[in-house]
Amino acid sequence: MAYHRFGEDYVSREFLEDQIKYLKKHFCPIGLELFIEFLCRRAVLKANSVVLTVDDGYQDFYRLAFPILRKYEFPATVFLTTEFIDKRIWLWHDILNFGIKNTANTDFTLDGRVFDLTNQQGKIKLKSHLDGVCTSVSTTERDELINQVLKELGVRVPEQPTSEYSPLTWNQILEMSRNGISFGSHTRTHPILSKLPTEEALYEIGGSKKRLEEVLQREVLSFCYPNGKEGDFNEKVKLMVKEAGFTCAMSLIYGMNSLGSDPYELRRMALDARSYIHFLHDVSGFGVMRESIHKMKTKVLGGQN
Ligand SMILES: [Zn+2]
Repeated sequence: MAYHRFGEDYVSREFLEDQIKYLKKHFCPIGLELFIEFLCRRAVLKANSVVLTVDDGYQDFYRLAFPILRKYEFPATVFLTTEFIDKRIWLWHDILNFGIKNTANTDFTLDGRVFDLTNQQGKIKLKSHLDGVCTSVSTTERDELINQVLKELGVRVPEQPTSEYSPLTWNQILEMSRNGISFGSHTRTHPILSKLPTEEALYEIGGSKKRLEEVLQREVLSFCYPNGKEGDFNEKVKLMVKEAGFTCAMSLIYGMNSLGSDPYELRRMALDARSYIHFLHDVSGFGVMRESIHKMKTKVLGGQN
């Protein structure tokens, strides 16, 4: 399972508690480390084992999720973007969020499309369009586009992320690492690794491992690809992650894992801002079953369905 943010606009405290209670009752929560032992055939697991992961390292994890996970003794792994935790950068997609949220403009034209910014729906459409463009170009082009967009939106972004977008502190991370939470790497600056030159990708992967191990004073063996969809990483990136010394890597490709799963392309289910019905649909395995039937049908009917 994969989460990103917690709070009223995301997964609320109450909703998370309901989910955790449900998972405790019907599933077997385990740490990611044990799951990797299982993949290496050094441990046996129950079929309904579940691993909880959280990406990025936002402050709201400590305030809202950690107390609940602690209360129910539920293990979790958080993937940290180290330059974000070091307070050197905003996560780039938050700069766009901040700009779109705070603009006084009523519309925005991009690639010949006009986005209405007078309502929430129009703002979401623009954000998702920009996210799509930003993840398909190089880091330099992405930064140029973000600057251009901010200029047109007429929004000045503060040096440090505002409270809504702020990261965990290292002290909170150390406290949580003593209390059932483990930490993995999510690069230094959250780039799309498949779009980076080799040297830079290696620095993003290895640099974040080094920084985490320096602070945590322990080996960091798990990795998580930024964005994590197909195309955001490739075989070359997977090899770099392996050679950097990581034993596993998470994608955000929808699905479940079993013995024989590629440890450098583990599937997850993103549960951000989903309803309780969606949550049940995903954790029951119904979503995965539906997807494999759809794939089978497509294969049999030769793409007619
Ligand atoms: Zn991320």
